Amino acid sequence: MAIEDDVLVIGGGLAGASAALGAARGGASVRLVTHKENTLRNASGLIDVLGYHGSDEPIAEPFEAIPDLPDEHPYRKVGVDAVREALALFDEVVGELYEGGHTERNALSPTYGGRIKPTSRYPTSAAAGLASKEGDTLLVGFETVTAFDAPLAAERLDPSVPFEVRGVTIAFPGDLRSDARITRLARALDADELTERGRRVGTREALAERVAEHLGDAERVGFPAVLGDEEHHEVRASLGGELGVPVFEVPMGPPSLPGMRLEDGLYEALDEEGVRVESGNPVVGYTEEGGRITAVSVDRGRREIPYHADQFVLATGGLVGKGIDSSREGVFEPVFGCHVPQPAERYEWFHDEAFDDQPYARFGVAVDGGLRPLDPEGRPEFSNLRAAGAVLGGYDMAREKSGSGVSLSTGLVAGRRASEDIQ
Ligand SMILES: Cc1cc2nc3c(=O)[nH]c(=O)nc-3n(C[C@H](O)[C@H](O)[C@H](O)COP(=O)(O)OP(=O)(O)OC[C@H]3O[C@@H](n4cnc5c(N)ncnc54)[C@H](O)[C@@H]3O)c2cc1C
Repeated sequence: MAIEDDVLVIGGGLAGASAALGAARGGASVRLVTHKENTLRNASGLIDVLGYHGSDEPIAEPFEAIPDLPDEHPYRKVGVDAVREALALFDEVVGELYEGGHTERNALSPTYGGRIKPTSRYPTSAAAGLASKEGDTLLVGFETVTAFDAPLAAERLDPSVPFEVRGVTIAFPGDLRSDARITRLARALDADELTERGRRVGTREALAERVAEHLGDAERVGFPAVLGDEEHHEVRASLGGELGVPVFEVPMGPPSLPGMRLEDGLYEALDEEGVRVESGNPVVGYTEEGGRITAVSVDRGRREIPYHADQFVLATGGLVGKGIDSSREGVFEPVFGCHVPQPAERYEWFHDEAFDDQPYARFGVAVDGGLRPLDPEGRPEFSNLRAAGAVLGGYDMAREKSGSGVSLSTGLVAGRRASEDIQ
């Protein structure tokens, strides 16, 4: 039987999920096809809209700053109202998993490297640790979680906040292997049961006992983001109960439990919305007729299968996810061969100083106001293809701290417009 949908979304990260939800809510039948893991597993789980623009001064009101961005920025293509609507959809879909939706101001979250980062939405698990709330803080690291050096993070944070921060490193309770993964620690806290010197112990109580020795006058305690997987609300509540102070997670790099929890939440929402999701196989080609894409081919190992649809959304990620790739010939978009604007002279791709504003960070497909990828002459590449998320050019997510906001808002607009254009 031929595979046929109103809207086919390619890519299952934040942008693809947002596009699929937008299209499904517009009444379309939607399929989402995605290849490998998305960047949520690598990202912190913080949802940044706009943290910096043009200076080292953090932005307090991200929505107010959007009109000052350059014309080619994806936020300028979709408009500030669409960014607000995308964040509202995010709040609705993730429910109690996230906070920050009560204000348009950025919050300040500590990072695992000991910096303070402006962000728009933060996991509920991180809420008690915000630097914008005062309270003497104890950071607790584990000997085996080398990515989070609590004493060093505390030393860096302490001079930049109006409260005291101390850090301590302890052994995680139980006879776990020294190279136990973060997910293993989380599951030991979920199960609340461990073997320690041959004896069964409650993981949460044993951990709280170890931390209590260092608590002193601390008014809150932060751990790396390993506090439970399925049971994370309960784990945090019981540690807080044992210690008598609020407990929070410091968002971490890969593997990011807050990112994975968010991914689970988004995929549940897709399921509820009736979106058919297929993962594990890449889209490798397409057929077209009269400037319209008629089908894409999905590589199923032995065969390439055509997936037909009326409208298509490209949400395959950026340089990290290989939605944008490069070779000796230049930078390109591998699925549809969409044009990626770039200086012909390679010396103009980057500046010598590592921390300079780097042109290559803005590489990606250029789009019109309807998010249609544009060819070198500025004409839409295909009438029924839209692009969203990190595959777009014209913004520098790492420098601006705008990655998730751009993916959510361009995804929502691409999905909505696709559903409106069904013939
Ligand atoms: C290390 C790191 C840390 C970050 N930290 C933050 C942060 O703290 N806050 C923040 O707001 N943002 C952060 N970001 C940015 C943010 O995570 C991304 O901007 C955003 O999630 C990108 O979403 P996306 O859906 O556009 O792309 P991705 O998440 O890259 O998803 C693209 C998906 O498309 C799939 N795909 C690619 N090619 C094909 C194909 N041919 N066929 C089918 N599927 C395909 C990929 O397998 C992938 O699943 C971080 C990013 C990284 C890399």
